[in-house]
Amino acid sequence: MPDRPTPTFAQLGLPPTLVHSLGREGIAAPFPIQAAVIPDILAGRDVLGRGPTGSGKTLAFGLPLLVRLKGGASRPGRPRAIVLAPTRELAAQIEKALDEPALALGLRTAAIVGGVPFKGQAVRLARVVDIVIATPGRLADHLAQGTIVLDDVRITTVDEADHMAELGFLPQVTEILDRTPASAQRLLFSATLDGEVDTLVARYLNHPITHATAEAVAAVDTMEHHVLHVPREIKYATVARIAARPGKTLLFVRTKAGVDRLTAELRAVGIAAGGLHGDKPQGHRTRVLAEFTDGTAPVLVATDVAARGIHVDDVSLVVHVDPPTEPKAYLHRAGRTARAGESGVVVTLVTEDERAAADKVMRAAAVDAATLPVGGEDRRWTAVTGAREPSGIPVPDRVPEPPTPAPARAEKPWGGRGPRPGTRPRGEQRRGRTDSGHGRRRRGAH
Ligand code: ADP
Ligand code: MG
Repeated sequence: MPDRPTPTFAQLGLPPTLVHSLGREGIAAPFPIQAAVIPDILAGRDVLGRGPTGSGKTLAFGLPLLVRLKGGASRPGRPRAIVLAPTRELAAQIEKALDEPALALGLRTAAIVGGVPFKGQAVRLARVVDIVIATPGRLADHLAQGTIVLDDVRITTVDEADHMAELGFLPQVTEILDRTPASAQRLLFSATLDGEVDTLVARYLNHPITHATAEAVAAVDTMEHHVLHVPREIKYATVARIAARPGKTLLFVRTKAGVDRLTAELRAVGIAAGGLHGDKPQGHRTRVLAEFTDGTAPVLVATDVAARGIHVDDVSLVVHVDPPTEPKAYLHRAGRTARAGESGVVVTLVTEDERAAADKVMRAAAVDAATLPVGGEDRRWTAVTGAREPSGIPVPDRVPEPPTPAPARAEKPWGGRGPRPGTRPRGEQRRGRTDSGHGRRRRGAH
């Protein structure tokens, strides 16, 4: 491709109010995927976008979507745009990214996700909302209850369509798309485009323009990968030493029970770790993510599903405590570090019996990893990870957790379809946020 100067947001067709709002948040120039898709979305085309994790897809679809709605009026219970995301964390992050730009254009957003009481959401939806950002299961519930009507929808975005497919949400996604006008504009974003995602595209997108920036695997180039060969007896002591490093560390384990166990073990030896998996109540998840983001609890232990789409800046080390069983999982986990062009380190702990399987996954993921031994004279693994001795002083649990409901089914990104006792509505809580510094109230708040 010839070198062309990157256009400015204004040159891409975004209005000055929006450009200024972005500038206030330190977003000055468009990333390549944004430069590629914004003009086509503004022109009303259906767009299929593919870019590696961290390439800036949220604003790529979000900004032109907002501009398309600007100036119009939404009726109560009838949003004019919906954004579907596979997990509630991802939905929350999309809402956070679009909140200020939407406000700048006089538009209102609401996140409608599972794991929070249905009724509060219904009340919210009965007022004017321009853009609903939702997980498919909960939005389908609202559709079934008649608390939302999609007849006025002009634009639908499906984000992380490949994860939607993996998690088995396509039936709800198609149910929702079927209830939007056939003439509405549709956008679909995905790290990979194959299998079921192709089917979705063929069925719902109308002469889409495809934009792809670099292969999904390109994201791993800015990372350093290491495999640590560790004797099983010292595996958890090794994990604890790694977790005691300075900096934000994300630890992946295979099971929900494994998350709970490792989190408790780490806290017991003095590491402020939080755990995230699909059975945790929303309040817990929100708090754990907030503490990880602001560094209060710089170690996050998570399952693959729980970590999907989480965007926390400056995660400098990702640890596969249990080696991933397939290459895609390796890349998705690794993609939580080295975001937006920064660099990061990824280590995979492999015990003797796991070696053959782990080698195979790494080869299939086309990852070039250096192997380092743990437990002998060779100390390179500590240099790579920053490992140090944990303090040994237990970190107390501040708030007793409400009992985790035990759904008798596989982990889903939302913990069940109905309202869950003991959790708080969170759709309204961001209103009290003070980080904008001027105590502004959101328009339309009563
Ligand atoms: P993706 O969805 O492609 O994985 P995101 O949309 O979450 O990526 O963006 C990744 C990070 O890059 C976010 O922290 C976001 O704030 C930041 N970002 C996005 N666009 C820009 C931009 N044009 N300039 C600076 N930072 C940006
Ligand atoms: Mg994204």
